[in-house]
Amino acid sequence: MTNGADGSPLTLAFPDISDLEIELVSDVLRSGTLALGPFAQEFEQRIADLTGRKFAISCSSGTAGLHLAIRALDIGEGDDVITTPFSFVASANCALYERANVVFADIEEETLGIDPDQVAARATDATRAVIPVDVFGNACQIERLQDLASDRGWRMIEDSCEGLGTISNGRQLGSFGDISVFAFYPNKQITTGEGGMVLTDDPALAETLWSLRNQGRDSDTTWLRHIDLGYNYRLDELSAALGVAQLRRFDELVERRSRVAGLYDEALGGIGWITLPHAAPAATVNWFVYVIQVDPGIDRDELARLLAKSGVPTRPYFSTIHLQPYYRSRFGYKPGDFPVAERVASRTLALPFWNAMTESQVGRVADALRTAGPAAAASNGS
Ligand SMILES: *Cc1c(COP(=O)(O)O)cnc(C)c1O
Repeated sequence: MTNGADGSPLTLAFPDISDLEIELVSDVLRSGTLALGPFAQEFEQRIADLTGRKFAISCSSGTAGLHLAIRALDIGEGDDVITTPFSFVASANCALYERANVVFADIEEETLGIDPDQVAARATDATRAVIPVDVFGNACQIERLQDLASDRGWRMIEDSCEGLGTISNGRQLGSFGDISVFAFYPNKQITTGEGGMVLTDDPALAETLWSLRNQGRDSDTTWLRHIDLGYNYRLDELSAALGVAQLRRFDELVERRSRVAGLYDEALGGIGWITLPHAAPAATVNWFVYVIQVDPGIDRDELARLLAKSGVPTRPYFSTIHLQPYYRSRFGYKPGDFPVAERVASRTLALPFWNAMTESQVGRVADALRTAGPAAAASNGS
């Protein structure tokens, strides 16, 4: 494997695939059951057990899962959904799919999650749901948001697509929403290639989610009876087998990820112009990405260019959703609308981060940062 070894090019992310994953995926190929088989069920059971939830329903991506959540909660035209502009675009798009209004509320600097006070300030009579996001794997103020939602009679969809394995106040992320959603794209904490999972404790919601994922089928009757406008959002067996292997190794994966985060904390701790990622109070974070913030005196984009030139790929994480071209042209958002999210977005940089990174690879990134930082500051003229 090229990316585990010293001297090989650095990459932003790399999946942690062992012989077990290869074995289980091969088993699926040999079995002939490539869809609707036992691995999807085992995968669902393992995620339910890990998060302590009653129902887990696998699906074809995190985005599909968020869409299922919106549909299952019957959110649509005329409904407001409050979410964060500092996220991956899918956490807002899911409401637009069903013609609901996306209402953004700014974030707090501490956790980079949506600010509960801003959520309260943006609420109207049309508010039906809030979609908090566990940004980079960190916990947002999920309990406060949960209280707010239950006080106001809203539903909470927890976008925990970046949060698998993080524990907040003794509870796994993904255990808080009326519906919670995970994603398993190759750069996430575990991967199925493409894939996702929706979770709930409510049997009626679980049944609806299951049905919508399966072409609107009626779970009680024959396979070709459709009681709703559904989708094919199922996860295939090859992907599910990959997910099962990753979950059988889950403790090991968490431990390997935390080792690399620890190496970075140590290597970068002495660099004054860098703010390290830090866990929310009472959270043990299984980081999705390792994202630093650079001081305002550093030109972040120039820094990224210099790092790329020295072989260190990085990425600004995230570009805010409201300033994406589609959102600007459709809704007229402009810079300044969500100042905290925009300020943070202008200073973040995701560093190469994968489980097999060695101390010397982390050291290379740290050295490149130490060299490039002052140069990026000078060219900024500050
Ligand atoms: C990864 C991710 C998703 C969903 O991603 P898919 O690529 O559709 O699986 C949704 N929300 C957030 C915050 C994510 O990071």
